[in-house]
Amino acid sequence: MAVQIDLTGKTAIVTGGTRGIGKSIADKLLEAGAKVICTGTKLKEITHLNEESTNPNLSYIQLDLSSTSSVDQFCAFISGMDKIDILVNNAGINIISEVLETNIMDYQKLQKINLEGPFRLSQAAAQKMTKNNYGRIVNIASIWSVVTRPGRSVYASTKMGLLGLTKTMSVEWAKHNVLVNAVSPGFTLTELTYTTNTKEDLERISNLIPQNRMAQPEEMANGVLFLVSDLNSYISGQNLVIDGGYTDV
Ligand code: NAD
Repeated sequence: MAVQIDLTGKTAIVTGGTRGIGKSIADKLLEAGAKVICTGTKLKEITHLNEESTNPNLSYIQLDLSSTSSVDQFCAFISGMDKIDILVNNAGINIISEVLETNIMDYQKLQKINLEGPFRLSQAAAQKMTKNNYGRIVNIASIWSVVTRPGRSVYASTKMGLLGLTKTMSVEWAKHNVLVNAVSPGFTLTELTYTTNTKEDLERISNLIPQNRMAQPEEMANGVLFLVSDLNSYISGQNLVIDGGYTDV
């Protein structure tokens, strides 16, 4: 019999699920039958997406991880949910700047969105998951959680920090059947990648990757889908690096 991933009856939250890798993850979870709540930063966009959505399993809610009050509100929303089975902390931003040129505001902004956000949301979700004796959390880190290069100090520190968080939450909550893992994307072709790189840049980067190409968002989503599914019952605290071999050369 073919192996099938069935998430019917499961409720998932995907932060930053309005575009890019997050949207692809949300699409996969929906395909597998889960009820999915996606977050995005802009209220106007959220309202529009909710009006447009024809899928009863899909809804959108506003969350700005750079705002403490928005995170407070969102955590209160999680507390009010009947249950939450899956949390994907996908939302994140990147600022490339060398240490001597980096201003403290940018440093604090990245820490707040990329690291404090996942901490707060996981805390709120795990209150429910540990009581329910079921939970799957996936934190989207990056290849810059295992290697680095000039200009990546702030981003890499948030993503390496996210691994510390992942491993510690995993050992604290394993006894409650709450499995916490990270997925670390390599260079992935999102709209942002196309708009921030020239064709030549994309070609140059692709040549540095053993598989000779960048990834599609769906290739990240497949990794997440596996980790949150019942095919995963014993993997926790791990970092699944999906990078076409980039960090191994
Ligand atoms: P993207 O810019 O296309 O999407 C980012 C998402 O995060 C958006 O939905 C946005 O609404 C949300 N977001 C941004 N700022 C936010 C804030 N202040 N509060 C709440 N949500 C906010 O990015 P992407 O490429 O799809 O990246 C998704 C994740 O994957 C990020 O954590 C990123 O660091 C990581 N990543 C991406 C790549 C890549 O090549 N694209 C590589 C490694 C890691």
